[in-house]
Amino acid sequence: MATTSPHPDSPSPYRVPVVVVGAGPAGLTVGNILRAAHVDCVVLETETRASIERRPRAGVIEEWAVRGLQRRGLAGNLLERAQLHTACEFRFGGERYRFPYAELTDRHHFVYPQPLLVTDLVHEYVDVRGGDARFAVLDVALHDLDTDRPSVSYTCPESGERRLLRCDFVVGADGARGVSRAALVPARARIARHDYGTGWLALLAEAPPSCDCVLFGIHPRGFAGHMPRSPEVTRYYLQCPPGDDPENWPHERVWAELHERLGAAGVPPLTEGRLIEKRVLDMHDYVVEPMAHGRLFLAGDAAHLVAPIAAKGMNLALHDAFLLGDALVACLTKGDGGGLDGYSDACLRRVWDYQEFSQWLSEVYHGTAAGDPFRTGTTLARLRRLFTSPAAAAAFAEQYLGTAERY
Ligand code: FAD
Repeated sequence: MATTSPHPDSPSPYRVPVVVVGAGPAGLTVGNILRAAHVDCVVLETETRASIERRPRAGVIEEWAVRGLQRRGLAGNLLERAQLHTACEFRFGGERYRFPYAELTDRHHFVYPQPLLVTDLVHEYVDVRGGDARFAVLDVALHDLDTDRPSVSYTCPESGERRLLRCDFVVGADGARGVSRAALVPARARIARHDYGTGWLALLAEAPPSCDCVLFGIHPRGFAGHMPRSPEVTRYYLQCPPGDDPENWPHERVWAELHERLGAAGVPPLTEGRLIEKRVLDMHDYVVEPMAHGRLFLAGDAAHLVAPIAAKGMNLALHDAFLLGDALVACLTKGDGGGLDGYSDACLRRVWDYQEFSQWLSEVYHGTAAGDPFRTGTTLARLRRLFTSPAAAAAFAEQYLGTAERY
């Protein structure tokens, strides 16, 4: 489907079938699906290309999501370079308990840092599929979403001029801090929120992983996590008060707490390294329902935030993007609007399932540090059940890997 003149640099309106707001995993995946079907779109991004290709965040990708990328020609580098994880390990009461989830599900996780995935997706969209992406744009605004002629305006970083993109559909994939969600909430959709009442100090260490798998330290001093990212870099988490200042966590204090909370009989000490990222996340979730109204379709963190408790956010962003990309292609190339009509409901079933699992797992992580003997008792019962009941273990593995047959 061809775009119409005038030239994109012209200040007068430009027409394109789809405008995608945000070049994260969700927006870039939608853009790539559209380009593969020769549907034109413009991706608008407030950051520079270099900046989105460096931004560290996720790393754990579920197998179904990788297969979805692979089917769309987007997983070449990932399949070559990602590590495969087949187990995770819980450490509590001074002992280690390995949980070999791949044996229970025949599925595994791929570990591939988000900046590498974003780099691959931008390269494929811009350099291979000839997609139009405009970086470092300012003051993005959405208009006329209730009509069949919506538009998106922004300020061009080079000229400072306002540009207007007229389109058929707008994809709001601008993450938790974007502008798209506000176009739906509260007038056309409701937002459901959950606050865990705790913070996590999110750390990246220039240090090799200290174990071949993800570690969950369940400790009366608070949760600690170890997530391998690459042979040189490891992500760590430390539970902390919400709103805590990262400056309260100098190098020595961080490593002392990690050693303590992830310690267990017979394990080698953690390999320390320089901390290259240190920030406090206030742990909360939200879900926008419905995820679409009129010609605006939200995808990824713009529609639902899930605290990084179970490493689910990017997986959900990819799930939305697969459904939305395919539905837009069906509508724009075959006039079949069924996928768009069912988009929000189809996404939300998996979203709510993952939110519920994150809430369950949060109690496992944080329960023994709550200072409440009752919560300590129930948390330890949950943990023991995982290692004594095959049915409980199978249910956990299915949720952790997102392998349910139906949502
Ligand atoms: P984003 O990645 O946030 O992309 C949105 C894009 O929109 C950004 O590039 C942003 O610059 C741009 N933007 C913002 N405002 C505007 C605007 N007004 N106009 C245009 N563009 C705009 N998930 C997992 O699945 N597994 C994990 O292991 C995992 N670990 C995580 C660890 C941490 C510390 C954190 C913080 C998150 C983690 N997540 C994980 C979650 C995951 O990173 C997000 O869910 C994922 O980035 C969502 O992708 P997205 O495309 O929806 O949004």
